[in-house]
Amino acid sequence: MPVLTHVPTTDKVVFITIDDGYARDPQVVALLAARHVPVTPFLTVDAVRGHDAYFARIQSTTGQHVQNHSVSHPHLKGRSRAAQETEICGASSTFASWFGESPWLFRPPYGSYDDTTRQAAAACGVSALVLWDVSLPHDVLRFASGTTFRPGDILLIHWRPGLARDLPVALAAVAAAGLRVGALQDYLPRPGHPGAT
Ligand SMILES: [Zn+2]
Repeated sequence: MPVLTHVPTTDKVVFITIDDGYARDPQVVALLAARHVPVTPFLTVDAVRGHDAYFARIQSTTGQHVQNHSVSHPHLKGRSRAAQETEICGASSTFASWFGESPWLFRPPYGSYDDTTRQAAAACGVSALVLWDVSLPHDVLRFASGTTFRPGDILLIHWRPGLARDLPVALAAVAAAGLRVGALQDYLPRPGHPGAT
């Protein structure tokens, strides 16, 4: 069970991941469609319940499947195996029913995980824990190291008011670094599918 803060690649790509799901701005759909940005949604069931149609549109617009960010967004580190499986498997089965396919990538809420998380995730059909090394808490990028994007970086943003305004900040920085937004799920494909490693 790999735990990734970035994707090991020399391709000139970075990856954009958008978490939780508490805001659902139609302008974001339009922006992603117009600029062909293949973001990966990591959704929390409790944040998106009743709004699956919006994220089904995101999925069809970006070509990227909805991935797993737990049922209720707890700190998982230190929790029992059963409690962790309830959070991870529960989100996977819910998203399979809402979006047609079960997730295979998991982002632990707050980046909080332990060995039990890895075992629970594997039991829930997850092939990798996906963390991040760049974030965009408001409209300024924060890099874990350095001051610019590098190949393989994983950017964390949230579905929040203002996302349609902030996302272009990230896209401009990616372009300024001579990079483009790659499709995370091309690099971390569903195990057993063509292209999987
Ligand atoms: Zn989150």
